[in-house]
Amino acid sequence: MREHNLHVTNTLTRRREKFEPLSPPHVGMYVCGPTVYGDAHLGHAKSYISFDVIVRYLRHLGYDVTYVQNITDVGHLTDDADSGEDKVEKAARAKKVHPMQIAEQFTRRYFEDMDALNVLRPDISPRASGHIIEQIELVKRLLASGHAYEANGSVYFDVASWPNYGRLSGRSVDEMQVAAGDSAWRASARVEVSARAASRVGEKRHPADFALWKRAAPGHIMQWPSPWGMGYPGWHIECTVMGQKYLGETLDIHGGGIENVFPHHEDEIAQAEAASGPGAPGFVKYWLHNNMVTVAGKKMGKSLGNFLTLRDAFEKWPPMVIRLFILQSHYRSPTDFSEEALDAAKEGWHRLRDTALGLENLGYGGGPGGGAEPSVVKTVAESRRRFYEAMDDDFATASALAVLFDLVREANRVLGTGGATQGTAELLRTTFAELGGDILGLDLEFPKEGIDEGLTNNAFQILIALRNDARRAKNFAQADAIRKRLDEIGIILEDTPDGTTWRFK
Ligand SMILES: [Zn+2]
Repeated sequence: MREHNLHVTNTLTRRREKFEPLSPPHVGMYVCGPTVYGDAHLGHAKSYISFDVIVRYLRHLGYDVTYVQNITDVGHLTDDADSGEDKVEKAARAKKVHPMQIAEQFTRRYFEDMDALNVLRPDISPRASGHIIEQIELVKRLLASGHAYEANGSVYFDVASWPNYGRLSGRSVDEMQVAAGDSAWRASARVEVSARAASRVGEKRHPADFALWKRAAPGHIMQWPSPWGMGYPGWHIECTVMGQKYLGETLDIHGGGIENVFPHHEDEIAQAEAASGPGAPGFVKYWLHNNMVTVAGKKMGKSLGNFLTLRDAFEKWPPMVIRLFILQSHYRSPTDFSEEALDAAKEGWHRLRDTALGLENLGYGGGPGGGAEPSVVKTVAESRRRFYEAMDDDFATASALAVLFDLVREANRVLGTGGATQGTAELLRTTFAELGGDILGLDLEFPKEGIDEGLTNNAFQILIALRNDARRAKNFAQADAIRKRLDEIGIILEDTPDGTTWRFK
């Protein structure tokens, strides 16, 4: 285990706390996964890249992390007040296919998008519909302990039976001791609370009670037999059940978007802790929440219609540019989307990648032999210290990136001298690979599988030489054709005063 001073901001206590998992080196981490009824958008990228960096850093520190992230394929309604349609069923009806087909299609596409963003796959990706038996069991326990009641084939959690309800979101919102920067959070919780309170009480005893199990209306496709008749689970109980099934009674970390603090996570706590009974350990030690992606200050989301799917975004900006863009803001701060901001991130990405390539080319025998220069050794050590300090500060990726870009400047200075030793290049290269690649997940590796990199570079040098020959012979059509055909396969040639270089797009 690496020595560290990691502190995280815990939504439950509203404090910055030293990270100490229950049984180190093991860490059990659950993050609310996507509801699979449409393509992932930039908002999803913010959430899953944020938690990807958290997992990567914990593993880098030496923790043995079990990362569970569910797939919600049933029970997530269009309205948080237990009314409205199931989102997956609604999408299936529009396309006249079975809901499971929608869930399957968008689950696959979700993983494809996340793979492109270099987001590590969770260790376990449980489907809600695969855990109906466990959900029914938890509902039974809550009924038996008097925390739930049945009404007309549905079962509701009795909020009045659980005095701790509201501890996470701070139902008395004005008493919340939150930092000024958390106003968006506060506002969102307030709106949600009043939305539920204003909802029709119907068969509920209290407007704040929430569904554990819903009776299936006629024509509802996703339904299962239960002691209360045919129905389907509530969205909140799915996460409680899947988290505890794979990580035990208490989770070290539960993550999700801030819009899920209330009601989703508040309800998860109530179900888990009420079922465990008084005196039992709590459901979650650290609650971590990521902020949202905004467009001109407004939340980006499917329901608002102002979202950009990742697939559309990838047409304009390579996935690593989007990853870099997301990491430029703290996970607890909003990320404001604009084309200009992404174009700026693209420039940054090229700077980082070109430097990594330059260092790699030097490693092919381009520089004089010998160990790393002492001044560079010192700079790298100082950069590492600053990088870890940033990451220990509640995963401050923006500051960590700033350290990396300082190092880019240093690397380019060294490369520019022309006399950098291979030892210096190797030290800088491995530092970028570890801090930028392993921890921040920026894929600085050049395609390796089945490719001899030295050979590849030599082959491109031959093409560059042939193009130069063509230009000298004033055969510009030939020279342009070489450049154009390389461009078509994703290789860019750049003419600089010092000669022509190549890079991947
Ligand atoms: Zn969840």
